[in-house]
Amino acid sequence: MFIIALLRALPSLAVLLCLARASALAESALAAPGAARLRDICLNALGERTGAVVVMDARTGDVLAAVPEDWSRRPMPPGSVAKIVTAYAGLSGGRITSTTRFHCSNALTVGGKVRHCTVPGGHGSLDLDQAIAQSCNVWFYQAARRIGTERILKAWREFGVTGVGKRVDSPERLAVGEEGVQVSCIEMARLVRRVVTLRKRDRSMELVARGMRRAVTSGTAKELAGLGLSVAGKTGSPSQASDPEKRHGWFAGFAPYDNPQICIAVFCQEGNSYRSAVPVAAEVLKGYFGNRAR
Ligand SMILES: [Zn+2]
Repeated sequence: MFIIALLRALPSLAVLLCLARASALAESALAAPGAARLRDICLNALGERTGAVVVMDARTGDVLAAVPEDWSRRPMPPGSVAKIVTAYAGLSGGRITSTTRFHCSNALTVGGKVRHCTVPGGHGSLDLDQAIAQSCNVWFYQAARRIGTERILKAWREFGVTGVGKRVDSPERLAVGEEGVQVSCIEMARLVRRVVTLRKRDRSMELVARGMRRAVTSGTAKELAGLGLSVAGKTGSPSQASDPEKRHGWFAGFAPYDNPQICIAVFCQEGNSYRSAVPVAAEVLKGYFGNRAR
């Protein structure tokens, strides 16, 4: 009798054992990497590149990793990541709306010099979402003329950035992060966290976040769309001061989009956003989220 009862109980015992194992696996897949492991993930992602990676807890604002220390604190020109701040300045001051459109025909004269956008034939007519996603300089030059220098500088200070210049010659160049502001990687992660924390009660911030999401789904950070994770972010490729022909690379973003766990900022001294910062960010996000990305 005992043996028969045991045999009858075996299948349910096996099910219990399977369930216990599955839940243990699920738990290990849900655990975020510890500080030392995350630091390794960030350093490996940077590889031979000179630059910095900062990962911040989106909920608490704690810096989870900032490597290497000196580079993560070094102020650098933000390039097109600045468009996040310019957009916020325009939206919150009522100078632009989510439906404001400007036309990009590739070139625009700024301060007596013809400046070009990245697409040879121009981006055409764009709204704010598209302008952030495509990182259209000509759109932001025109927006800057409407928003004005003071509003943009004020927004930078609101975002907690200390390297904000007092005098700026060109609102257009300020709007695209080529003049007037220097931002460290730590400040950049904090700036993103401000978007994340305020978007629920600040419609302007929500619109900025939406543009950042679109940059990943159909814009300049598309490489991050295939991670099985809803990433949002903004790229930047400012000219190097010592050699304007050369560029730095930036990526600043957060994930997952609807319930952000981390904010991330990547700066690479050489290359540009597509060739350096975005691939580094992809490695960090893969390392941080692992199986949880699905
Ligand atoms: Zn354009």
